[in-house]
Amino acid sequence: MFFSRRLFALLIIPIALSAAPKYKALVVDGQNNHKWQEMTPLLKEILEDSGLFTVDVATSPAKGKDMADFHPKFSDYQLVVSNYNGEAWPQQTQKDFEAFVKNGGGFVVYHAADNSFREWPEYNTMIGLGGWGDRTEKDGPYLRFNDGKVSFDNSPGRGGHHGKQHAYLMTTRNPTHPIMKGLPATWMHATDELYDSLRGPAQNITLLATAFSDPATGGTGKDEPLLMTLSYGKGRIFHTALGHYTDAMNCVGFIVTLQRGAEWAVTGKVKQKVPADFPTATAVQQRVKKRP
Ligand code: ZN
Repeated sequence: MFFSRRLFALLIIPIALSAAPKYKALVVDGQNNHKWQEMTPLLKEILEDSGLFTVDVATSPAKGKDMADFHPKFSDYQLVVSNYNGEAWPQQTQKDFEAFVKNGGGFVVYHAADNSFREWPEYNTMIGLGGWGDRTEKDGPYLRFNDGKVSFDNSPGRGGHHGKQHAYLMTTRNPTHPIMKGLPATWMHATDELYDSLRGPAQNITLLATAFSDPATGGTGKDEPLLMTLSYGKGRIFHTALGHYTDAMNCVGFIVTLQRGAEWAVTGKVKQKVPADFPTATAVQQRVKKRP
């Protein structure tokens, strides 16, 4: 009896340890032209559901309040997810965030986070492409995908726009990238904004997926970059322009690409399996949890 119990304990402990979340993630919010109070809990849930992350939240002071003491300790984390689109962070907070990513920290740029901080050059280098905030040709090129190739377009024009919200087809452009491996060539994304005309430094950028921005819904008539990765120093960045609101965030395609992008940003690899309910080219697939 004694020995079998001991044997049992020896077998169980390593299993319990291996199932524990491995990485610490921090979601930053507090200002956004989106309903960040509703979106952060979903981001947290999605990351925790991967089994890889524990998630803390750092909420900045509200717009117009004193920001001087807003100083999350980024270096306590392996991943920072930005759900922030608002006023400038204090200089030291900016410097610490740059150091965090430069030294190998993972960063996930989520939807309107790419609208933020037009005046912060290093941030724009990290996100690669951004929109609004008076971004124009002086902020960098558009990223185009034509005839199977990525190119850069320096023509003058606005940075950042979207047409009417609708469900749309996502197209994988880099099937061998760890985030995209095993995902279908095309899949339906749930009703969302389709960001177009993003522009920025676009350095060290890898395009993962686009969607066609249909003039019929107020779009550009171009394949717009919506999922991408970047590097900044030793840091890896996953940028998803998807996820305007809860409909889009409950899309299995949004959930799975966020989970895989977050894992890749931390480790450079993706070990998560593509789930059986991943959307197909013809059907939107949402995963709505029953919440109390
Ligand atoms: Zn939006």
